[in-house]
Amino acid sequence: MLALVKTAAGPGLELRNVARPQIGINDVLVRVRRTGICGTDLHIDSWDPWAAKTVTPPLVVGHEFVGEIVEVGSNVTDFHPGELVSGEGHVTCGRCRHCLAGRRHLCAHTIGLGVGRDGAFAEYVSLPMSNVWHHWPGVDEEVAAIFDPLGNAVHTALAFPVLGEDVLVSGAGPIGLMATAVARHAGARYVVVSEPNDYRRRLAEQMGATLAIDPAARDLGDVQGELGMVEGFDVVLEMSGNPSALRTAIANMAHGGRMAILGIPTEEIALDLNAVVFKMLTLRGIYGREMYETWYQMTVMLQSGLDIRPVITHRFPFRDHEKAFEAARSGDSGKVIMDWTA
Ligand code: NAD
Ligand code: ZN
Repeated sequence: MLALVKTAAGPGLELRNVARPQIGINDVLVRVRRTGICGTDLHIDSWDPWAAKTVTPPLVVGHEFVGEIVEVGSNVTDFHPGELVSGEGHVTCGRCRHCLAGRRHLCAHTIGLGVGRDGAFAEYVSLPMSNVWHHWPGVDEEVAAIFDPLGNAVHTALAFPVLGEDVLVSGAGPIGLMATAVARHAGARYVVVSEPNDYRRRLAEQMGATLAIDPAARDLGDVQGELGMVEGFDVVLEMSGNPSALRTAIANMAHGGRMAILGIPTEEIALDLNAVVFKMLTLRGIYGREMYETWYQMTVMLQSGLDIRPVITHRFPFRDHEKAFEAARSGDSGKVIMDWTA
């Protein structure tokens, strides 16, 4: 089969012929139809310090996908050839305290699809049945391809109640953009998006932002005044990993405010802990998705009118993977999809 492979330590990915993955008795083999490009894939492609310490080549990259089941192991009874599925990209150990208690998202031994095991930028991908998610008939296939990052957005946006609350989304990459739509769908009063990139600010407005501001040009205190807010933001969704974004957000939070932090900083960040203490803030780290509550929530919100399609801005056949990665890297894009059916 053809697959996009990190063949050796160093920058670049190669489209190569490799063996189809073998499946064990508990596994499901999927013919991949569409995939989404994630920041993780860009890091592995460019071979930054994180990738160099995390990834062992050769590796088939990619973890956001939708595809059709073609084969199942002898122990698998709930999945059948022909069904349309996506996969949870975190393969958990199944044996630790948290896994045994049903809190698999807290597993400390998670292996990432396309990071620690061969991934989905390929014609076929194999996953344990416990990582496979059925789609409903008629689901938009491009939306289905990005359930993994939509899950990040949903898990973060619903980490704290947002009904009637004033929400700040800090960073409007694909995940911040989807979180904007989710916070709106879940009943927030105002959803203010802070994002330096103009293209992404326009997308944020399409995703339902009350206001999308450039943090270099506008002060969030002014924005609060313009909206008639008096106490600061109740909920912050930190989706940038940027130190100044995090500090500005803390400075603009209401007493008792809550922040869900998904963005991954590349360095240590100094914070005003006095503000955290005296404003009695809650800061919560978010990693991945909750298995499978988040998947259920995504499914039912899409069925009840959540529309995230504007986040998908670029589509390429998989053979044009270089162009696809370039579009994803440019920043002037939302989600970039590769088609593996052509
Ligand atoms: P992205 O890099 O496309 O988006 C980050 C956005 O933040 C960009 O649009 C950037 O312009 C913006 N930004 C930069 N400086 C800013 C500032 N000062 N104020 C406001 N915005 C600023 O990434 P993404 O794919 O949307 O993912 C969002 C973040 O979540 C990234 O940091 C990513 O690494 C991280 N992530 C975490 C998990 C997890 O499980 N915790 C999973 C996926 C991604
Ligand atoms: Zn575990």
